[in-house]
Amino acid sequence: MLVYDLGDIVTLKKGHPCGENQWKIIRKGADMKLECLGCNRQIWLSRIDFEKRVRKIKEDDKFISIVHHKKKEE
Ligand SMILES: [Zn+2]
Repeated sequence: MLVYDLGDIVTLKKGHPCGENQWKIIRKGADMKLECLGCNRQIWLSRIDFEKRVRKIKEDDKFISIVHHKKKEE
């Protein structure tokens, strides 16, 4: 399982209807809470749905494919 931190910015398979596809992780656990950076709406996704839909993560100001996301030490 990949490790995410609060505040991480990710993109999903499908963007938000507002046109944005950048989401900030604001809660994590069995359910993930994400905030759309376009309109600030918040959505809940189950962890399983989140893992299926997440595509990229922002690292050092660049979006990289989630498969290259390094697992961080906790
Ligand atoms: Zn939005």
